[in-house]
Amino acid sequence: MAEQHEFKTEVKQMLDLVIHSLYSNKEIFLREIISNASDAIDRARFESLKDPSVLEDSPEWKIKLIVDKDAKTLTVRDNGIGMTAAEVEKNIGTVANSGTKHFLENLKANKEELPPELIGQFGVGFYSAFMVADEVTLITRRAGDKSQGVKWISKGDGFYTLENVTKETRGTDVIIHLKDDETEFLEEWRLRNIVKKYSDFVEHPIAMDVEHQEPVKDADGKEVKDADGKPVPPVVSIVEETLNSQKAIWLRAKNDIKKEEYDEFYRHLSHDYQEPFETIHWSVEGQAEFKALVYIPQKPMWDMLVQENRPKGLQLYVHRVFITDTCEQLLPRYLRFLRGVVDSADLPLNVSREMLQEARALTIIRKNITKKVLDTLADMLKNAPERYDAFYTSFGAVLKEGLREDFENTEKIQNLMMFHSTTLEDGKRTTLADYVTRMPETQKEIYYLTAEDLVNAKNSPQLEAFQKKGFEVLFLTDPVDEFVIPSIESYKDKPLRDISKGDVDLDTEEEKKAKADERKAAEETNSALVAKLQELLKEKVSQVKLSNRLTDSACCLVDAEWAMSQQMQRMMKALKQEVPETKQILEINPAHPLIAALRDVLAKDAESPKLADYAKMLFDSARLMANLPIDDPRDFAKQIASLMADSLK
Ligand code: ADP
Repeated sequence: MAEQHEFKTEVKQMLDLVIHSLYSNKEIFLREIISNASDAIDRARFESLKDPSVLEDSPEWKIKLIVDKDAKTLTVRDNGIGMTAAEVEKNIGTVANSGTKHFLENLKANKEELPPELIGQFGVGFYSAFMVADEVTLITRRAGDKSQGVKWISKGDGFYTLENVTKETRGTDVIIHLKDDETEFLEEWRLRNIVKKYSDFVEHPIAMDVEHQEPVKDADGKEVKDADGKPVPPVVSIVEETLNSQKAIWLRAKNDIKKEEYDEFYRHLSHDYQEPFETIHWSVEGQAEFKALVYIPQKPMWDMLVQENRPKGLQLYVHRVFITDTCEQLLPRYLRFLRGVVDSADLPLNVSREMLQEARALTIIRKNITKKVLDTLADMLKNAPERYDAFYTSFGAVLKEGLREDFENTEKIQNLMMFHSTTLEDGKRTTLADYVTRMPETQKEIYYLTAEDLVNAKNSPQLEAFQKKGFEVLFLTDPVDEFVIPSIESYKDKPLRDISKGDVDLDTEEEKKAKADERKAAEETNSALVAKLQELLKEKVSQVKLSNRLTDSACCLVDAEWAMSQQMQRMMKALKQEVPETKQILEINPAHPLIAALRDVLAKDAESPKLADYAKMLFDSARLMANLPIDDPRDFAKQIASLMADSLK
């Protein structure tokens, strides 16, 4: 007896999207179903290496398309791993992937902005059959367990039925009952075309029964003619034909592969709807022997954006046999945006997960891939800087993580970093190497400022003295910068320096000498005010001092040399981490008229209540300039209003 079940909400959402948004390119449903069939065969073959009973005495692997024009069905049959009833429920009845769920929610919110093909990335593969079907039946049996098969049927309307059945052969039949206006998918030429276009390189044969016409010939090989001299009608027979070339594209010679073939293979691997940004195909012989075909996507793939989701990365093959697509040893984490295939000749076919962890061959492969990709990027930076910039916009933030992970390639990664800065036009970025060539003689360090975004960076009062001196300051606005940049101590022997921390000292020895008297005088004139402010603000700041950074602004907040930056604290808080309370240092600009006026007030009446009010406002305005929240915005606004009223009197 068939039991009725209801899909989980998210599956209904997915079905709704698939049926209503994917209208433009319906033919891809076949690619998705074939790709599942091929994966199922890969898995069965892999299991059979350890457990030959999976083979059930039929060692040939095959995907077969079966057309029934009367019944209006297209069946995709595979003799792969199959599914148990529990697996059918788990894999087909729910959306297991939390990343997909998360994305479905967003998808619903931004439906119109998302290209429909993007949906392919979310693992909707199987459901795409409902673009063309009014009913889908799945009959499947786990390889190696002849006792129980299962039949699943759904009209894509939110419900499905499950029933136990017997099934002779291992694997899965997906029977697609076509809608009345989709019967083109029963035509031989149409199916041939789709298979050629999307699935040519699938490693297993995709077969179909086709009509074969054989001219009638005599013993000498001449066509037999009838009484009127016309050829007699050919003999029609049904033969099984393999529709795909099955050529593993990565094993072929580069020169023989067309761009379209590379691109199509990329789409197959990544489910991306766009072309790859860059295709890197090479082979290695000698110490290690492998072939690699690696792609850089145009944009981060969705799995990179969802934290809990581990990106698929590269697929590992051994002698054309698919082993795994979750081999972490194959790529360093900071290159996780890559997609592709590695085919090794050095690993045994029955390699286990534990062996993969240890395999020296993989270490060699990883090093080689890393080098190849970093070198390709370095070339791009040198020869096609605009292109590199586009790459960097997409993946710079991930690449940077390499500075903390891959100490063998520190220099290469440093050379690939790009930054906005005080002297560059909006939107332009510089490398450290170019920055260094622009440094004036007198500048000894590479300066940077971390900020939430470029607008905040540019408006920072911390920059004033540097700009006056003509020293360029790099802007670090990626959240990850806080974690990775401190690991670059110096670049080409020039130390890197965060300008929002500690003391700044930009003057040469002569300049210092020349200014020494001036400085001393300023210290003396302001000592009372500094002491007063320190007393009034002792709850809020660790120290008040005269600034070397400011030229135009009255004051700013800075961190002690050793302190965690404000940007970092903000991020830690966002990640719900404990952040120790640290007070910042308030620097005041003795040359500013406001500071001069405060000195006068203090001189006239050390107990003036205005001093406390102004000290607090000074502090609050410094926080606002740094884009930090203030304790009591209403109080601040009230004070401003009262000041304005006074000055207008
Ligand atoms: P995806 O292939 O992206 O995981 P699908 O919706 O296409 O998403 O398939 C969901 C799951 O159902 C697959 O991951 C697989 O476990 C299972 N599945 C689908 N088709 C088959 C098949 N032909 N044989 C075995 N398992 C399958």
